[in-house]
Order: sequence, then C-alpha cells, then structure tokens
Amino acid sequence: MPAIQLKKLTKHYKGVMAVDHLEFSVKNGEFFALLGENGAGKTTLISMLCGLLSPDGGDAFVLGHSILTDLDKVKPNMNMSPQETAIAPNLTVRENLEFIAGIYGMSQKEAKIRTSDMLELFHLKEKEKAKAKTLSGGMQRRLSIAMGMITNPQIYFLDEPTLGLDVRSRRELWKNLEKLKGNMTIILTTHYLEEAEALADRICILEKGSLKALGTAEELKQQTHTTTFEEAFLAICDEEAGIYA
Ligand code: ATP
Repeated sequence: MPAIQLKKLTKHYKGVMAVDHLEFSVKNGEFFALLGENGAGKTTLISMLCGLLSPDGGDAFVLGHSILTDLDKVKPNMNMSPQETAIAPNLTVRENLEFIAGIYGMSQKEAKIRTSDMLELFHLKEKEKAKAKTLSGGMQRRLSIAMGMITNPQIYFLDEPTLGLDVRSRRELWKNLEKLKGNMTIILTTHYLEEAEALADRICILEKGSLKALGTAEELKQQTHTTTFEEAFLAICDEEAGIYA
C-alpha cells in the first residue's frame, strides 16, 4: 500500500486552479520532494493531505484512508513542519519538545527519553535549558522540525524547512534529514534544487496545480537531455525553451 495516493485531487480558489486533478503515489518510506515555482500549488496540496484544507474534487488516500472521510484515523501517524517556525518562545527548548510529546499522549518518562533523542539528533543538547526565543533562526528551525519529529510520525510533511537558513545551517539540517531517510515517509517542499537532488528519492514538479514531471533527479535529467538538475528543472517548467518535449 502506498503511503499517499492522489485520485484527481482538486482545489481551486476564486478563479485560480491551485491543485488540478492531481494523480500520483508516494511509496512507504520514500523521501519525496515537491518542487514548483511560486504559486504552483505545493502548500495547498500539503494542506489538504494534512486536513487543514478541504478538496473541491477527487480524493487522496493517506496510509489507505480517504482524506474526505477517514483522515482522523491517520492524523496521529502524521505530522507537519510548517513554513513558519512553530515554537513557544517563552518555553525552553526541552519544554517545547516535552510539551508536544505530552499532547501526543506520551508518558512523562517516554517524553523525556524522546526529547533527549531529538536534542541529540538535532544538535540542540547544549541549548536544552535556553528559552526558544533566544535561539538563532537556524536553531529555531531545527527545534520546530524536531517538535514534529518527536511524535515519530509515519508520514512527515516538511514545508520549505531550510527557507532563510544560512549555508552552514542548511547543510547541517540536510545531514539531520538524511539520517531519517527510510525510517518514515517524508514529503519535502523546497525551492532549493540541490536540496531536492541531494535528499529525495523521487522529485515531483508541479506547475499551476498540474503534474509536470515525476522521477529521480537522474531520470528528469535524462528526460530533458540536460546535465544539471537546475537545467532539467528549468526545461520542465519552461516548455517554450523547447528542450523538454
Ligand atoms: P510558494 O512556492 O510561493 O509557497 P506554492 O506552490 O506553495 O507557492 P500555493 O500557496 O499552494 O503555491 O498557491 C497555489 C495558488 O493558489 C496560487 O495561485 C495562490 O495565489 C493561490 N492561493 C493560495 N492560497 C489562496 C487563498 N487562501 N486564497 C486565494 N488564492 C490562494
């Protein structure tokens, strides 16, 4: 059973087709990147899959459950790291993590153990007693992602996790994410092409809510007869360039 299966999933806003009859599947344990230029429909798609927005048409199955009728059954098994860093500024790093673990029903003992695991994994151990608002932007982002990860979701949505991070912080976060590969299904949206190329098993390119291409970075390069992934991406997004037929 695929982790996610879209069946003509559709959403429009006044006059704008944000997600247009999308159909594709994401495999269990896959690291799946969603790419597309601004307004392509990435956030709208993720929001529907997480139950934050209702579709206008079609359906999607998350771990086999319809998002129209059964999403409550899978919500405990998924989590999302939104574009905006979501942390409680006046709680310490440890308190933020334990708070989320508590909301998801972990015992105090389990919450402490999982918190320690996350502090280790995201290199936040030395900051565990610091108030979240005193962390740098990059550290806050790592904490926000760790707060989603602490619930050990089967499916984790990461919406532009490295937006605004400096090169070093971005590369550190990539290393953290790399360690998670295979342990859970990860859906990543990003504008950093090298991030998608470095991390993702398969890459899906959306344009105006429609599927433009889907495959490994290598396959997309071959299909477009290009040598770099950036060239492949541009060729796919800009058919007028005539490279990608
Ligand atoms: P970005 O890369 O800029 O984050 P995106 O690929 O995530 O973009 P969406 O935010 O899903 O794209 O937007 C898809 C389309 O739907 C865009 O044309 C956008 O203007 C439109 N849209 C999104 N949210 C709304 C809304 N609440 N009301 C009206 N139109 C919206």
